[in-house]
Amino acid sequence: MQSTELYKKALDGGFLSVEEGEFLFAQAPLTELMYIADQMRAQRVAHGKVTWIIDRNLNTTNVCIANCKFCNFYRIPGHAEAYITDLETYRRKIEETFRYGGDQLLLQGGHHPELGLAYYTNLFRELKKMFPDLKLHTLGPPEVAHICKLEQKSPKEVLTALKEAGMDSMPGPGAEILVDRVRRLISKGKCGSQEWLDIMHEAHKLGLTTSATMMFGHVETIQERMEHLVKIREVQAKKPVGAKGFIAFIPWTFQDVDTLLARIRGVHNLTTAEEYVRMIALSRIMLPNVNNIQASWLTVGKETAQLCLHAGANDFGSIMIEENVVSAAGAPHRFTAKGIQAAIREAGFEPQLRNQQYEFRRMPEAIEEQVINY
Ligand code: SF4
Repeated sequence: MQSTELYKKALDGGFLSVEEGEFLFAQAPLTELMYIADQMRAQRVAHGKVTWIIDRNLNTTNVCIANCKFCNFYRIPGHAEAYITDLETYRRKIEETFRYGGDQLLLQGGHHPELGLAYYTNLFRELKKMFPDLKLHTLGPPEVAHICKLEQKSPKEVLTALKEAGMDSMPGPGAEILVDRVRRLISKGKCGSQEWLDIMHEAHKLGLTTSATMMFGHVETIQERMEHLVKIREVQAKKPVGAKGFIAFIPWTFQDVDTLLARIRGVHNLTTAEEYVRMIALSRIMLPNVNNIQASWLTVGKETAQLCLHAGANDFGSIMIEENVVSAAGAPHRFTAKGIQAAIREAGFEPQLRNQQYEFRRMPEAIEEQVINY
């Protein structure tokens, strides 16, 4: 196998195999991977720009029965700190999000054993009644699978009802690594890999735009990372004509602070900045049919994320006015609207505000700058 042949195949839009991805991960100089990924980025998106979004991650509930071993966010049913977010809190936090220039909630939560389909459809309708311009980027395949199980309904039935109630798009949480050996070790209470992929395909058939993610740097092998990328690419390849399908791919690193995986199994995130940039470049190279690759500044920090913008990534994600899940496992980084734009400029690009569909937005004229308390 020759790197140069694989680079040509990638630049021509070809699908590299798992073995070819593994070969490049192990053998290719990082500078070459960055160069090829940057070329592929230029073929697909406006090259001088880096997009970003203002939104807020809000959680419906922290009650969860999935018991993922990397999660410090959830509480078991009946726990003193268990909550379900009430409408007044939504109202207050959404108003604040609009004041900060955002127009979207990324709304997710745990697998609550008593919150079924009617709970979510009522909630979405209430939120849209209060804030008709609000976009709901909400739930994810594991939560949809959980609702399907509670209701004994198919993903198509559940997603159709959620969409009718106001779901605008679906993020891609709970993918971790889409290989069941890994999922059995770290998140066996969640849907399996095929179910995750099937729910995404169903969403694409219903015209819902979604994102895909990967959480790596724990118990997976390099081969399993490449299998993950290939599976996502295959689902994207069968999206209906005209559907956007996976609009973005977001790889991030396992945050290990105080997690069961770290405490009981001794699994720590040993991913270096070099390895993260390598994975960003390989994500671009392995996923020629996904337009946007996002660098996760939240987990790797500003400097590494800036480097990723020269390695195939074209999006800096959200300023995350609020984020409670990844932060609970140690992700320490924060951005304001001004800070994220300055970081993009510092990396040599023009910042471009976007919406969830990756359409460019004008900066709202008067927005409050959020205050970050460390
Ligand atoms: S990651 Fe999500 S599904 Fe897993 S335990 Fe935490 S809240 Fe539950």
